[in-house]
Amino acid sequence: MNGNVIKKKLNVYLANPRGFCAGVERAIQIVEKSLIEYGAPIYVRHDIVHNNTVVNDLIKKGVIFVEELDEIPKTNQPIIFSAHGVANSVFKDAEYKNLNFIDATCPLVSKVHIEAKKLYKDGYEILLIGHSNHPEVIGTIGQLPENSISLIENIDDANEYIPIAPDKLAYITQTTLSIDDTTEIVNLLKSKYPSIKSPHKNDICYATTNRQEAVKKLARIADVMFVVGSNHSSNSLRLVEVGKRSGCEQSYLIENANKINWEIINNIENLFITAGASAPEILVEEIINKISNRFDVKLINDTFTEENISFKLPNIKNK
Ligand code: SF4
Repeated sequence: MNGNVIKKKLNVYLANPRGFCAGVERAIQIVEKSLIEYGAPIYVRHDIVHNNTVVNDLIKKGVIFVEELDEIPKTNQPIIFSAHGVANSVFKDAEYKNLNFIDATCPLVSKVHIEAKKLYKDGYEILLIGHSNHPEVIGTIGQLPENSISLIENIDDANEYIPIAPDKLAYITQTTLSIDDTTEIVNLLKSKYPSIKSPHKNDICYATTNRQEAVKKLARIADVMFVVGSNHSSNSLRLVEVGKRSGCEQSYLIENANKINWEIINNIENLFITAGASAPEILVEEIINKISNRFDVKLINDTFTEENISFKLPNIKNK
């Protein structure tokens, strides 16, 4: 084979910001520091963050992932609750079982929990805009007694909802939603119930917002967009939707470099790559390296928003 094969040119635009957010960094650090402090095994309830690479790496280091506390044998080793947050009943259950638990809930999810509790105390009828069965939604609903929060998943739900007390209505949202979908739902609710109470500060977090904004800015010039992330990552799935809606019909979720569909990018000029808030940068690097083996890649790395947020770790000392 001729070693001097001329590679086809490909512009690869990288979204900035992309990948890990402060809540994900914190959650992973909590697990890693716990492993150092206590040694393996460490238990984590639910995927610490929704990314298969992160989870598999931690399994190799001695983490055992469970879905329910009942799966954990009697132990003094810590049990970590994932970044998505948990219902109050999980804390109570852990206390009852005398488990040594560490809460890795993202502080921005905890902020929504605090908001929900305050609204309940003030007598509001609460709507939660979010996706059913997502652990964050289950955790937020579980902050209050049963049936205290009504879930609004889409515009139809918002249209059909009949409040008991329209003058004492409030909404909160999941942190990783599509900004545009949520705005549409909120606008409808506001037009029907003008006095509906909004959160003090948008519940959709800074990381979700910045990653979606970066996609909106570049999607139009991209022939194809790859969103690096796992298929159960809410914020990654939203980035694919935002890409499609913002002008890049060919927007795809891609788990890792082994999943590149070469047919899709063989005849294009501009590829756009971003990563969901739970996807490690190494996956982006591996994808770029693999693409560079076949193409003459020109990397274009523009920054749209600087992020310098970090969250304090909880105390994870072995007492
Ligand atoms: S996506 Fe937002 S809410 Fe979720 S962990 Fe990251 S910073 Fe926290």
